Amino acid sequence: MTRRPETIAAQALIGYDAKTGAVAPPIHLATTFSRDASYELIDGRHYARDDAPTPQLAEAVIAALEGGPAAMVYASGMAAATAAIRAHLVPGAHVIAPRACYFAVRSWLASFAARWGVAVDFVDTSDTAAVAAALRPGVTRLVWIETPANPTLEVSDIAAIAELAHAAGARLCVDSTAATPVHAHPLALGADLVMHSATKFLAGHSDVLAGALVTAREDAVWADLHLMRREEGPCLSPHAAFLLLRGMRTLFARVPQQSATALALATRLGELPGASVRYPGLGAHPQHALAARQMSGGFGGLVALQTGGGAARALAVIQRLRVWVRATSLGGVESLVEHRATVEGPDSPTPPDLLRLSCGLEHVEDLFADLAEALRA
Ligand SMILES: *Cc1c(COP(=O)(O)O)cnc(C)c1O
Repeated sequence: MTRRPETIAAQALIGYDAKTGAVAPPIHLATTFSRDASYELIDGRHYARDDAPTPQLAEAVIAALEGGPAAMVYASGMAAATAAIRAHLVPGAHVIAPRACYFAVRSWLASFAARWGVAVDFVDTSDTAAVAAALRPGVTRLVWIETPANPTLEVSDIAAIAELAHAAGARLCVDSTAATPVHAHPLALGADLVMHSATKFLAGHSDVLAGALVTAREDAVWADLHLMRREEGPCLSPHAAFLLLRGMRTLFARVPQQSATALALATRLGELPGASVRYPGLGAHPQHALAARQMSGGFGGLVALQTGGGAARALAVIQRLRVWVRATSLGGVESLVEHRATVEGPDSPTPPDLLRLSCGLEHVEDLFADLAEALRA
């Protein structure tokens, strides 16, 4: 029987363990796996840096949710992102990356990639024509996009960029952390790889670092990625994999509510004098029609609130909040607010008056009242 994503997530693909009846997956801590008397591996596993049962179960769930044949989990989102990018690099290669994207991906590309002779163009990937103009046929190896982009929430056209990238001999990797598999399926739109910071919505409780890649095909790049993880060792620990699995079981209960809260807050905050809001679910968002086309069931739990009045006003507003938690990261059950420009430093492309809101599961009226009061003062 085919199972819908909600069922796959809720049962963590096991339902129950046929041997013990346990309805939660075990945490297998073994680092090494024995061989039988004829020296054959018993269940195909050799050593936990290659593959281990608890991370593999998390991989099976994530692959099923994204609709890909295979996934790999990593010790963090950045471990997954940098592996995905490096797997495409050769000396002299060219990479296209978004001007607006997760800050550590951008700064890693700008520093390390450049040091290895890789050319990186940071373009506005929400402008498909700008991507087309930046592509160098036969030289561009990878187009990296993040949609919606953290923290400014631009939306990039996955299907159109996949087609352009493929026509130029490049591959497309989509950081789908903010969209989650609840709202988007980049592989179905032509992406070659999907990346998640599973630390965020997938795990959902701000208590585990994890990353994931999902592939469209088990091809040579995927084989390389597997070899890189095995030899470099950025594996997800069994404990962390269990927490990720545990979090994903409630993914379809959490994320739709977080997105509904985000839409309600974005709508109401936008009506307050002085404040302006960016949210892909609002009709006024420049890529709203595209977001509505390539996302389903909601637009994610992130809202960008611009307070006006520069960094000073944004910081004054954030200081007055009593329900929202002032912390970096996103996707957890508690609502977090962050002044990205402070965290990103002087090179930050983020508007100085922007507060990134990550909507959790609190009552929407408590979240709204807290912000409205802080903005009124
Ligand atoms: C957090 C985040 C990352 C990095 O993930 P870590 O798990 O913190 O290493 C990458 N991309 C996006 C969009 C993120 O929000």
